[in-house]
Amino acid sequence: MENIQNYINGQFTNPVSDDWIDNYNPASGEVYSQIPNSSKDDVENAYKSAKSAFKQWSQTTLEERSRIMLKISELIETNLDRLAEAESKDNGKPLWLAKAVDIPRASSNFRFFANAITQFASESHESVGQNAINYTLRQPIGVVGCISPWNLPLYLFTWKIAPAIAAGNCVVAKPSEVTPMTAYLLGEICNEAGLPKGVLNIVHGLGGSTGQAIVENPDIKAISFTGGTATGAHIARTAAPMFKKLSLELGGKNPNIIFADCDYDDMLTTTVRSSFANQGQICLCGSRIFVEDSIYEKFKTDFVDRVKHLKVGHPSNADTKVGALVSKPHLKKVMSYIDIAKDEGGTILCGGNRITIEGYEDGYYLQPTVIEVLSDECRVNQEEIFGPVVTIMSFSSEQEVLAMANKVDYGLSATLWTNDLKRTMRMSTQLQAGIIWVNTWLMRDLRTPFGGVKNSGVGREGGFEALRFFTEAKNVCIKY
Ligand code: NDP
Repeated sequence: MENIQNYINGQFTNPVSDDWIDNYNPASGEVYSQIPNSSKDDVENAYKSAKSAFKQWSQTTLEERSRIMLKISELIETNLDRLAEAESKDNGKPLWLAKAVDIPRASSNFRFFANAITQFASESHESVGQNAINYTLRQPIGVVGCISPWNLPLYLFTWKIAPAIAAGNCVVAKPSEVTPMTAYLLGEICNEAGLPKGVLNIVHGLGGSTGQAIVENPDIKAISFTGGTATGAHIARTAAPMFKKLSLELGGKNPNIIFADCDYDDMLTTTVRSSFANQGQICLCGSRIFVEDSIYEKFKTDFVDRVKHLKVGHPSNADTKVGALVSKPHLKKVMSYIDIAKDEGGTILCGGNRITIEGYEDGYYLQPTVIEVLSDECRVNQEEIFGPVVTIMSFSSEQEVLAMANKVDYGLSATLWTNDLKRTMRMSTQLQAGIIWVNTWLMRDLRTPFGGVKNSGVGREGGFEALRFFTEAKNVCIKY
């Protein structure tokens, strides 16, 4: 059994308490490694290491930071197979998906921010008539905390770390306790790339203790967090008295709105993907599908037919479209919503049951599930399920669907299928979400702002937004 270790000051270390947590393979339900149950002492050691590295790293030239980050990016690509296998084993996602998306995107996060930092310009303002010039410095914050979830483990972990270190900060980071493996391997890669000791420190452990210790450390001045809305609120409450800078990327319950004038085949194929990619465990999945009534019955038949043919299987099989859910408690939570849907009068159009895969009987597999709901206000239409479960219902007018789409606590993303330009402009303005896709889904350009409104979060990641978050603006006014 492989034990994972913390990565502090460039070295792999056991937790101070020698306390360990089992790490499960969701495809088989077996324990396959152990991870540190890190305490406050481990977080303190990680903090001290980051603090001692800060002076030198913050004064390292942009070219040199960029060179090291490009090397990390390159080494992630060199280790693609190994990292993808680790990601798939830890998370339950199909191996082909980890190879095609998760790991390449982790590599491009480092490449993108290695380049972005060299283009990150500060502003100057001439105070005309006052003989003065103002210029704004963008200075690194110091030691920052990065906390990430389990659904896109290395991808989201590096999405935070790359801009943080590009901007000259040193980092104490924690991946989710259920998917620690690729973060562990990243430590080796950083050493090989020549990242100075202490610039990145990774502590493994439980959210409520290890993660909490990062947030409670008064000298870690900024926290970049991606995870559930309830955890985000808890972090905000803990951090508020210390006036920490916070970036919170939280849950979603995203509408997928389909008008009759869309390109039907393209919409159908993409809607299957936006519903069930990564077992429906992407914060951006379109989990509430609204279809214009004139094509509703046709869509229902075609969609359910496609979903029934999605192959659920072991993540390492090349033809698997839907792998295992991340953990037993998560499977239980997702399945509880299927019971809730039935109680609320919903109709299960397909799926709804746990699946047993031969040879992996204890794995956490669930049939992709489509529920026709009676009302947009029912719980399965309002609460984040975060699994291979979507709801569908019809609408008759633009105003009606807009009201239903916005009538949730969340506001992360929305997808719109229509070829009517004026409608696109009207609805994009009025939909309450941070990200709108029109006639596509999950198309990402790393320069664009990423984040949600309402209970989906505070702040934006991506491009210069991320570099602004990880720096403090300081204005200098010189009279001449
Ligand atoms: P959680 O909120 O449970 O956990 C997220 C991270 O926070 C984990 O590393 C967790 O550790 C840690 N954590 C838990 N409690 C605390 C605490 N008190 N203090 C500090 N850290 C803590 O989310 P999940 O991991 O279950 O991820 C799924 C959620 O993430 C969904 O709601 C999803 O929508 C959201 N998400 C949002 C995205 C966005 O960009 N808006 C993108 C992807 C996911 P541990 O795992 O050890 O408990």
